[in-house]
Amino acid sequence: MGRPPEGGEAGHAAGSVTGKAGGLTGEADSLTGKAGGPAGRAPAPVSELPAASCRSLAVVFTDIDDTLTTGGSLPPSSYQALWDLFHHDIEVVPVTGRPAGWCDHIARMWPVSAVIGENGAFCYSYDRASRKMKRRSFAGGAAARLGPAGPGPRPLAEIAARVLREVPGTALAADQPFRVSDFAIDFCEDVAPLGQPAVDDICRILASEGVSYRVSSIHVNFWHGQYDKMTGVRTWLEDTRGGREAAATALGHSVFIGDSPNDEPLFAGFPLSIAVANLERFLPRIVSLPGYITRGESAEGFCEACREILRKREAR
Ligand SMILES: [Mg+2]
Repeated sequence: MGRPPEGGEAGHAAGSVTGKAGGLTGEADSLTGKAGGPAGRAPAPVSELPAASCRSLAVVFTDIDDTLTTGGSLPPSSYQALWDLFHHDIEVVPVTGRPAGWCDHIARMWPVSAVIGENGAFCYSYDRASRKMKRRSFAGGAAARLGPAGPGPRPLAEIAARVLREVPGTALAADQPFRVSDFAIDFCEDVAPLGQPAVDDICRILASEGVSYRVSSIHVNFWHGQYDKMTGVRTWLEDTRGGREAAATALGHSVFIGDSPNDEPLFAGFPLSIAVANLERFLPRIVSLPGYITRGESAEGFCEACREILRKREAR
């Protein structure tokens, strides 16, 4: 995954910090027939990004938390980097676990073509010419939180209550009121940071409840349904490029930048992917590695990657 032109298998092994949605990453592979790579290969320095890939780049897909942000804030450097990409005719699409309420703002105010939110539950895009916000749900919205009819997984609210009861120190994420399709358990944002054993306990409970889940650097998100960040990317590309074949071509002219286990489907599905340096603490726990990694962490690493892309794009 992530480092062209080689290919290989993408997938998830037992023990990976992923939920059922991880199984969807194989669908992304069929877009190009070559996404994915040998598991366990160390990412290369971002300075080794191929110049040809930078010159042909059309879209930067990026995670938000601890990729664009540092310590929970969006620094001027990251926001400027988004505008720098915009001014070089590179589209930007954030792909985040953050809620619908945040994504509505980002789609309208930031220099982005669209936002894929709640780990692939929906895509929002704002057409400035017609002053229309387009909201496309991939998940079924609020009704999906109740789970399928009949015997099966319980409503997400009941499952969240069980997690809070059984894992001391956890809380519902502060952004929960602005979510439409999932629930988010805070283990590191506004609560005293919990260790890996607590995160493992949360994941064990969610697995036993039969829901999909993903771990970010701050939350564990969970939902009913078989989607993830990569299926959201694929659907947005098919919508905007006009079908599956065109989406496959477009994916070959895209890069993803991220930082944590909930980005793993994108490291697996993108022919070109970059991690900021803070991914290193998760490396033993993920299977699908990015092709490249920055020296700097979080926002500093994102800006480093953008500088490298634009420098190679402009070089003749
Ligand atoms: Mg992140």
